[in-house]
Amino acid sequence: MRKISALLLFVIILSGCTLVDFETNSQIKYGLLVLNHTDIAENSVIPLRGEWLFFTHELLSTKEIEKRVKTSNVDKAYLPSSWNDLLGSVKGYATYALYLQIPKEQIGHTFALSTRFQSSAYTLFVDGIPISSSGSVGTSKDTSAPSTTPRIGYFVPNAEKILVVLHVSNFEDIVGEASEEILFGQANAIVNYHSDRQAALLFMNGSVIIIGIYHIIIFLYRKTERLFLYFGLLSLFIVMRSLFVGPMLLQMQFSHLTWFLLKRIEYSLIYGSVLTYIAFISRLFPREAGKKTVYIVMAIVMPLLFLTWVTPPSFFKPLFFDVFPLAFILMICITIILVKACVNKRPTALMNLIANLLFFTTIVNDYLFAKGLIDTLMLSIYGFFFYVILQAFNLSRNYARNFYESELLSKKLMILNTSLDKKIHERTYELQVKNEQLKELTELDGLTGINNRRYFEDRLPICFRESYKDKWPLTILMIDIDEFKKYNDTYGHLKGDDLICHTVNIMKDIVPDRGVISRYGGEEFAIVIRKMDEVEARLLAEKIRSSVENAKFEHKGRSDTQFATISIGGTTTFMHSFESVSDFVEAADQALYQSKNNGRNQTNFL
Ligand code: GH3
Ligand code: MG
Ligand code: MG
Repeated sequence: MRKISALLLFVIILSGCTLVDFETNSQIKYGLLVLNHTDIAENSVIPLRGEWLFFTHELLSTKEIEKRVKTSNVDKAYLPSSWNDLLGSVKGYATYALYLQIPKEQIGHTFALSTRFQSSAYTLFVDGIPISSSGSVGTSKDTSAPSTTPRIGYFVPNAEKILVVLHVSNFEDIVGEASEEILFGQANAIVNYHSDRQAALLFMNGSVIIIGIYHIIIFLYRKTERLFLYFGLLSLFIVMRSLFVGPMLLQMQFSHLTWFLLKRIEYSLIYGSVLTYIAFISRLFPREAGKKTVYIVMAIVMPLLFLTWVTPPSFFKPLFFDVFPLAFILMICITIILVKACVNKRPTALMNLIANLLFFTTIVNDYLFAKGLIDTLMLSIYGFFFYVILQAFNLSRNYARNFYESELLSKKLMILNTSLDKKIHERTYELQVKNEQLKELTELDGLTGINNRRYFEDRLPICFRESYKDKWPLTILMIDIDEFKKYNDTYGHLKGDDLICHTVNIMKDIVPDRGVISRYGGEEFAIVIRKMDEVEARLLAEKIRSSVENAKFEHKGRSDTQFATISIGGTTTFMHSFESVSDFVEAADQALYQSKNNGRNQTNFL
């Protein structure tokens, strides 16, 4: 639906640039055109198309023509027409003449004759007075100079019958003869007709130029977007070429050399348009177009382009018309490409197909019109205008869409990044916690849950140093279950484990918070208590020992008590000047050894 409305919009824009149509009722018969009131209405533009009097290889004055008309039979020739059809050659010179009969009341009004697209030399006379000319008419190549200047000539008739005489010469250009019609009408009508056309062309060319430049600028800032370059160049080439054929063009007289140069540029622009056009299509639908088509077109167009600059117009112009039918093959190829793109459901393919078909139709129209086969108007410039607007719409829409999508993607990416950051933070924290837990596990004893020997060995040196540095006493108690081997032997290992846990629980209940109990070995424990002197330590050790004894945990292997007991050896930092931690531990160990040696179930300090 949106596509259809866009199409409608363009049709409306185009219809704004309507063409003024001609009054075509009038008929020139044997060099005479009789016009009535309605024919010469205020806004009528009358094409002087029909049978003109014709004098080949002669440039006759008005008087001579009048004499010939009276005395002898005069040839007639259809104007506009090609000399090639008429004389078998496009080169030469000739005189055309026409009597215009206007109503009496129109005498004294200002009229105008306009020549369109005349690209050879001509002079237009009304009743013997030259009213417009282009280039200089001559009887040989040396005396004649071509020009491409459309002109309007004005005159005021003083009789009902007006004699219009046209001198034409052509020695250069194959379509330079009088092959386009002359328009007649009231001065206002002719001027309005031209200004309307010029305004429409100016509007279209101006729009296309801006669109072209706009796309080239986009390309300059985004070199990867070659589609924009091709489209921009195509637009500029076609507009520049239209300057060569449009009536608003170059209202100046050109020298012979400049005329040659202009022709070369004009034809180069045509070939350039073909190249950029095919490049554009193949870039737009690369899968459907393929590189082969581009290469074939380049292989044909490049030599033509080269010849345009190294041969005279009399060679490269006919050559252009000879190879022109190839353009129809190219159009068919492009149509096939676009149909394929439609079938493959490529975006904008349908709109492209419609725009191209319209454009092609106008080209075919212009070709047939130029050949004199149909009686319409030059339309390709309008077809192209429509094409450019549609393409610009497509390209801008795609560009905007791509931009929107990338914006959306970058937003999504940003969100993803932030959530990723958050996740990484969470995971890192979890990992840290796990690490700490793991560390704790490596420092704990599996059976009793108290610290293990690794922990003890890691921390003791720290406490030891602090004790000396801050001058507070540090106590260590080494504890060993008495005759534990026998217990194992009697009750089994599992029961042995129970006794270990039982002993630990008793110690836990008694040891103050600042003391740390570690499992030193199998049934050996070390208790490290900060800020505890020997007196306090002896009391604590004794309390632990007696508590285990008083718990009366059955141990038949203990011959004297029948209950489980422990031996303790202790020491405190300020009792001796220990040089190292190992001296400190050693002292406690020795004290324990003493307790064992002295009969077990006792406490000794060193
Ligand atoms: P002493 O009074 O001289 O200390 O004699 P003891 O039998 O206690 O001494 P010894 O060092 O000869 O024996 C310790 C025993 O402790 C040896 C070992 O089988 C046992 N043991 C070590 N670790 C564990 C443990 O985790 N569980 C159990 N059930 N037994 C253990
Ligand atoms: Mg032991
Ligand atoms: Mg023991």
